[in-house]
Amino acid sequence: MNKKINTTLIICAVFLFCAVSCNNNNNQTSENMETENNTNSTSVLPRGERGSSDWFTGEVYVQGLVKPEEIEGLYSVGQVTFEPGGKTNWHTHPIGQVLLVTEGKGWYQERGKPAQPLTPGTVVTIPKDVEHWHGAAKDSKMVHIAISNIQDSSAVTWLNPVTDEEYNDL
Ligand code: MN
Repeated sequence: MNKKINTTLIICAVFLFCAVSCNNNNNQTSENMETENNTNSTSVLPRGERGSSDWFTGEVYVQGLVKPEEIEGLYSVGQVTFEPGGKTNWHTHPIGQVLLVTEGKGWYQERGKPAQPLTPGTVVTIPKDVEHWHGAAKDSKMVHIAISNIQDSSAVTWLNPVTDEEYNDL
């Protein structure tokens, strides 16, 4: 009788050990993935590649979502992740652009106008050829989906970086 109980206890102990170990392994895997992605983003989409410092200031990641050739070369659709302080250069779009903010806090500013705050759910409609920039707040990341029309194989004309003076004044 005692032997039977002991055997049962050992089986239970082994099972529990396995369950805890497996659970720990799962946690470790997701931690590793988080470290590899270096992000706490809750986006269901990949963060993508680091954006060029020719076009962005700070830590910005760009993930293309639709190949333009799949939609007659008419649109560019992508997710942009701005870490705190990350932002685009000033730029224009030949036809226009729509931004759908999905995470965090940031700013959208047209030249000569006050900056507008961006929060999850904000939709920004940017007219063609209007000089502007978008990016994260100083103390928060910001993620948006950007849909841009393409004209003559180009969706954007890049201009100068946003200066610290322009950004710090916000
Ligand atoms: Mn833009």
